[in-house]
Amino acid sequence: MREAGEGQTVMPVYEYEHEQEPCGLGKCFEVTQSISSVRLASCPQCGGPVRRLISLVAISAPKTSSDLKNMGFTKLVRRDKGVYENVTATGKESRYWDASKPETMPDLKSKIRD
Ligand SMILES: [Zn+2]
Repeated sequence: MREAGEGQTVMPVYEYEHEQEPCGLGKCFEVTQSISSVRLASCPQCGGPVRRLISLVAISAPKTSSDLKNMGFTKLVRRDKGVYENVTATGKESRYWDASKPETMPDLKSKIRD
């Protein structure tokens, strides 16, 4: 069995929120875009106005949370509306990121370099 891990690519995932009525994609939806893509101003499905909430980083090859932590990535898993669990949290980081509480925001800048 070959190890998955060759040729993996890192693709940013952006989360958008409908500013008005949500469509079949839901109030919030995630879009994987290349780094050079421009940010969306309208929903790809319904064309309604959207705003970008946050940027996440996704890796195509499956990795365990501890692998990601060792690689210096932060992985966020949505647990509830506006609440993300930082499954790669290190000692001084808050385990949960509540979008309404800036002090719980993970320290992304120190982890994702370049
Ligand atoms: Zn829509």
